[in-house]
Amino acid sequence: MSRKALIAANWKMYKTPAEALAFVDAFLPLIAGHTRDEIALFPSVTSLATVVKAVEGSGVIAGLQNMHFAEDGAYTGETSAAMLKAVGATHTLIGHSERRQYFNETDEIVNKKLHTALKHGIVPVVCIGELLHEREAGHTAQVLLTQLKGALAGISAAAAHTLVIAYEPVWAIGTGKTATPEMAVEAHMIIRAELANILGSHVAKATRILYGGSVKPENATALLGEEEIDGALVGGASLKPDSFAAIVHY
Ligand code: PEP
Repeated sequence: MSRKALIAANWKMYKTPAEALAFVDAFLPLIAGHTRDEIALFPSVTSLATVVKAVEGSGVIAGLQNMHFAEDGAYTGETSAAMLKAVGATHTLIGHSERRQYFNETDEIVNKKLHTALKHGIVPVVCIGELLHEREAGHTAQVLLTQLKGALAGISAAAAHTLVIAYEPVWAIGTGKTATPEMAVEAHMIIRAELANILGSHVAKATRILYGGSVKPENATALLGEEEIDGALVGGASLKPDSFAAIVHY
């Protein structure tokens, strides 16, 4: 089964609306006519509406970096699924390691967010990955399975057809250290096998598993050339139109 790759930019807490607009203006001509892959931008919440409008008609997707699981309520500083959809966004990241690390996001919270996203028809990109000491202790597979099982608790195969997983080894995020293609493929195969256990082989074969962790133009071809790697979630190298476009054109 062939899976269309998704190349996604996670801008983290960078770019004002004006800077996001300048990026899109410079970026769209660089990827015009590119249909091989899906391309997504995940700006900050204050730039989301600007980006949605700016990419209209280009085929580029806009999504949120984080979304609350509640429908609404007294959750100061948070953004709901309805708010995301109201500005025309379609995707959300869930469980990015920076959310887990700095905002105490647990597998249980990730699971609740995933239920909410799927209920609202929002495409979820669920991020999982091991810490350096977990890899060094030989616990990578166990960590991935625990995170995956936790995220997918109570999710049916029918509901999961839009699910995207991003394998992001935490030690490779923003560090300049990249997993080798072999390491990434090994992790992706572990994830896909567990997806088959939980959701069945049909969903497992159709689910895109992205790699994230210091992807840049210089290593994109080797990583994305692997059949098991269905795209990339890119932080630092997605902040400049030319470097993100170079990754898109791997
Ligand atoms: C990320 O933010 O998901 C990421 C992978 O960052 P970077 O590409 O900078 O490592």
